[in-house]
Amino acid sequence: MSKLLEGKKGLILGVANKRSIAWSIAQSAAREGAELAFTYQGERLKENVEGLAATVNSKHILPCDVTQESQVEDVFQKLDAAWGGLDFIAHCVAFAKSEDLEGGYTKTKKDGFDTALGVSAYSFTLLAQKAAPLMEKRGGGSMVTLTYLGGERVMPGYNIMGVAKAALENSVKYLAYDLGPKNIRVNAISAGPINTLAARGISNFTDMLKIVREKAPLRRNTEPDEVGDTAAFLFSQLSRGITGEVIYVDCGYNILAI
Ligand code: NAP
Repeated sequence: MSKLLEGKKGLILGVANKRSIAWSIAQSAAREGAELAFTYQGERLKENVEGLAATVNSKHILPCDVTQESQVEDVFQKLDAAWGGLDFIAHCVAFAKSEDLEGGYTKTKKDGFDTALGVSAYSFTLLAQKAAPLMEKRGGGSMVTLTYLGGERVMPGYNIMGVAKAALENSVKYLAYDLGPKNIRVNAISAGPINTLAARGISNFTDMLKIVREKAPLRRNTEPDEVGDTAAFLFSQLSRGITGEVIYVDCGYNILAI
């Protein structure tokens, strides 16, 4: 049987370590036959990402701080030269200052607001700008980003990241509208809480895990490979009619009103 992503080429942003959701997405995409490129932010993560990328036979591991437009441009230039196009991207990048992820939201300063929104929301629009011409060369493509329920509803402690996710989710809709005529689809996966490096920066994270385990319809937490497999579906032709959506992979937690 042929694999879901055979012949497709994709870029994965946001692998920090093997617990990263980006890494689960990479593993699902590689299992389905995709050829992958990875980015890392700064030298600190280079070796880590190179080691993981080697296990899925990736030949393209590139530096990219998403706040640096020249670095983003460089990534797409290199991929265009190597591949002559691109089929999908996974944007799994977010950041907020630690002081903006504790206590109340009201005290947020402009600097912290700009940082969180710039890294966690605007970066996806910038990537979409740069990736779209490469996807057009392939007759279309799929862009996926990661969000969380705290972008829609108040999750104490999530604070500025919730505001950033709201901007990200609306960016998904506007990007989907703009890029749809080019057969480029844009979607978000809203994942339930998963124990990663970024998640540990959120003050109420352990409580969030416990509440989902106790209340979600499936009575358990989300496994990272469940997010990975959903991303592989969104990269594939199986999801060809889906764009501008937020797909929940959260064991059903979002349907609750209790
Ligand atoms: P993670 O492993 O810590 O991944 C976050 C990644 O973002 C890291 O690789 C980090 O690199 C990168 N990053 C931060 N600032 C960057 C910048 N300026 N340029 C490039 N990369 C940058 O945590 P994760 O939980 O897998 O997060 C991935 C995505 O899933 C995020 O969008 C997050 O909000 C979302 N999400 C997570 C959960 C959860 O519970 N874990 C739930 C729903 C959605 P550094 O390590 O170098 O900073």
